[in-house]
Amino acid sequence: MKKVAIIGAGAAGLTASIILARNNIKVDLFEQNTKNGKKILVSGNGHCNITNKFVSKSNYISANPNFVEPTLKRFGYHELERFMNSIGILFSTKEDGRTFPLSFEAKSVVTAYEEALLLLDVTVFNDCKIESVQKETNFSLTCEVASGCKVQTFKDYDALIVATGLLAYPQLGGNEDGLHFASSFGHSLIPTYPSLVGLHLDSSLHEELSGVKIDGEVTIFVDGLKEKTMQGDLLFTKYGISGLAIFDISQIASQALVNFQNVEISLNLLKDFNAQSLSAQILNLCKALPQNKISTVLGAILPAKLAFIALKETRIDANTEALHVNTKMVKTLINKLQNWKFKVTNTHGFSHAEVCGGGVDTLEIDEKTFESKKTKSLYFIGEVLDVLGERGGYNFQFAFASGVLCAEAITKDFSSKK
Ligand SMILES: Cc1cc2nc3c(=O)[nH]c(=O)nc-3n(C[C@H](O)[C@H](O)[C@H](O)COP(=O)(O)OP(=O)(O)OC[C@H]3O[C@@H](n4cnc5c(N)ncnc54)[C@H](O)[C@@H]3O)c2cc1C
Repeated sequence: MKKVAIIGAGAAGLTASIILARNNIKVDLFEQNTKNGKKILVSGNGHCNITNKFVSKSNYISANPNFVEPTLKRFGYHELERFMNSIGILFSTKEDGRTFPLSFEAKSVVTAYEEALLLLDVTVFNDCKIESVQKETNFSLTCEVASGCKVQTFKDYDALIVATGLLAYPQLGGNEDGLHFASSFGHSLIPTYPSLVGLHLDSSLHEELSGVKIDGEVTIFVDGLKEKTMQGDLLFTKYGISGLAIFDISQIASQALVNFQNVEISLNLLKDFNAQSLSAQILNLCKALPQNKISTVLGAILPAKLAFIALKETRIDANTEALHVNTKMVKTLINKLQNWKFKVTNTHGFSHAEVCGGGVDTLEIDEKTFESKKTKSLYFIGEVLDVLGERGGYNFQFAFASGVLCAEAITKDFSSKK
């Protein structure tokens, strides 16, 4: 019986295990954590955004942008649905394409995988951190068991799959072990950076605004050039700014910062208002309530904290009586609130990033089988590869798809040698 070792029991490694075991291949799955699928468990705020019905090549970033195309062609949304159904997970798909387990519970996905592993007799070594991998005729792995107490060697694997993920969320197992394994086999690496992450700002205002959440719009500029505009939640925090709209532009910010470029964002905190009609509305309010303070008038439109800071920033006294408010003051205020620029100094780091960009250079990986072009029978799948998805289920889609397609390729390779 052929034997395969898989390093990493995340979305990619778990999926590859099941396909291989279904094809009567002996699988040893190594996971440093005591439990499998830790990122699946916390994903999508505990709901697990499994995939997206509208997934396409344009949802991914890579130094080799065409790499994902054959994967998505052969294993897209419908193929994933069939696979998930086969382990007992049913889909619930929203209008925007985001897809969740029908239970809306990430735990149900991990439980379904655990049960499948058990039924298929996959041997899982938990609390087992692989320290090094070697290849002579076959692969062997050295593992530190139980927090460094004991070193053990596992031998005679016909193929090795590296499914270790990357640096995002070290508290759940994120690390760069996969890159070390890749380097030891002579692979090139694309520099890593955090993505789907909050941003640090060169300002003290975010601290004063900490806790303010608004449905707004953010535009990102790199070296003065407009790159992208996104709408959605904006949340001011003690360190800077977060929220879904910020996550959506964070890849551009993070990669530009790695390249020492100048990154700025412009916030529109009144995205649903036309500047002219809003100005008229505020002036009318001021006329109707001449004794009210300007801060009270603005506080009817914006969160009070934000109204105060906007007034401070435009040097308008918050106690100014409405009867003294003029068109110029209102226009200055609205202009600030619709084009509030901040310099971005950093991201909130890998500990808070949902995903990691960069990784093993896909130019050295077969796009159909995920086999290394440098070492026969060595495979890389999931996030360890330089393939980064946008927010919306795209990262899991690639992890699951690469797991299935790689396992199918190994099965085919083994049966061709019989
Ligand atoms: C908070 C959060 C929420 C997310 N939500 C979503 C979402 O809703 N939808 C979506 O598409 N994506 C989401 N993601 C991203 C998604 O979780 C990842 O892209 C995906 O898990 C990658 O799968 P993977 O199998 O390649 O790697 P991982 O899931 O990271 O699995 C790799 C495994 O390898 C293990 N490992 C590493 N090194 C070793 C070693 N030396 N020896 C043994 N084991 C090792 C790790 O412990 C880990 O369990 C989220 C991520 C986070 C952090």
